[in-house]
Amino acid sequence: MEFSKILNKSEFLKANLVQLLAAEGEELDLLYEKATEVKLANIGNKVYYRGLIEYSNICAKNCFYCGLRCGNTTISRYTLKDEEVVEAAGIAFEKNFGSLVIQSGERSDRKFIQKIADLLKQIRDLSEGKLRVTLSMGEQTEETYQLWRESGAQRYLLRIETSNPELYHKIHPNDELHSYENRLLSLELLRKTGYQVGTGVMIGLPFQTLEDLATDLLFIKNHDIDMVGMGPYVENENTPLYEFRHLLLPKEKRLELSIKMVAILRLLMPKINMAATTAMQTLHPKGREMALKVGANVIMPNLTPLKYRDGYLLYDNKPNIHEETESSLQRLKKSIEDAGCELALGDWGDSQHFSERVSKDF
Ligand code: SAH
Ligand code: SF4
Repeated sequence: MEFSKILNKSEFLKANLVQLLAAEGEELDLLYEKATEVKLANIGNKVYYRGLIEYSNICAKNCFYCGLRCGNTTISRYTLKDEEVVEAAGIAFEKNFGSLVIQSGERSDRKFIQKIADLLKQIRDLSEGKLRVTLSMGEQTEETYQLWRESGAQRYLLRIETSNPELYHKIHPNDELHSYENRLLSLELLRKTGYQVGTGVMIGLPFQTLEDLATDLLFIKNHDIDMVGMGPYVENENTPLYEFRHLLLPKEKRLELSIKMVAILRLLMPKINMAATTAMQTLHPKGREMALKVGANVIMPNLTPLKYRDGYLLYDNKPNIHEETESSLQRLKKSIEDAGCELALGDWGDSQHFSERVSKDF
């Protein structure tokens, strides 16, 4: 089908999405123009901050792509002290970010679950309930999701990583702890327990095809997801997937594919929240700005205390691990403005998609 006709469709078939993902040259410019237009018409040019706290790099899982995997013995493990979490949350509150994201390696022992609930309550108290909190702590039981929801978390980010079950199994150990089916079930539980639900995928994984990515986009749409964080796969030398690095697209192309995914998803889901992710910045210093221009509207400045940052290395060459919060915030604000966007402080920046979904349900 003619490229410009596809861009103006309201429903997209998988074949259409593959064609959009393969766009080059003038067609790619058209895709970006259209995505920018759809973004501005639906959610405007505001960008929301989510202060990121990387709570702990202790993880019970062993995902083949991730530096935090329990089998990686080359890193030393940390967990933030309570007062460090509270201090970082205080920074987000004082600086009027509106929201926090607390991310961690996955643990499901009683002590961890209770600790997170306690921290959530402390954050609610210190901010008088004025900070929105997103958790990203992997697969948990319905009771745990419920407990954390009641303790003060409103949003949860759980990437499906890839919606192709075969590829999922190639990049994870083949055991019960790493089951595609349970990942899916967890997304359903999050929805059921009342969260704003976020998911996402890694882009440019070894063995991944454009058809897989088109299916990922349809997966996100069909699951009526409220917020998305997706970004390029970045190799980590201390992981098993590193062996397949010869199969990867060059970094520029992997970033380009990620930006295309953001642009196309904006066409499919005009009102969701979408993050310009750190992995994009890892592949190119301007990676996040590119994403903001064509569809993203969320950025996650890192508030993890500096001394822990080199412990949270999901992948190689992660940026900002030595930078002071203040100077990186200055640069970030400028990048947002360079991308033609406006930083929105003092605003929760809830997903409009979520607000409309919830008002439909009642
Ligand atoms: N343990 C939680 C949250 C922390 S990991 C979880 O797994 O859900 C957060 C995200 O980092 C993962 O969802 C994955 O998409 C991303 N990630 C891990 N290793 C990566 C890599 N090598 N390249 C790009 N993203 C990676
Ligand atoms: Fe652990 Fe998440 Fe990394 Fe998997 S992706 S090893 S669950 S931190």
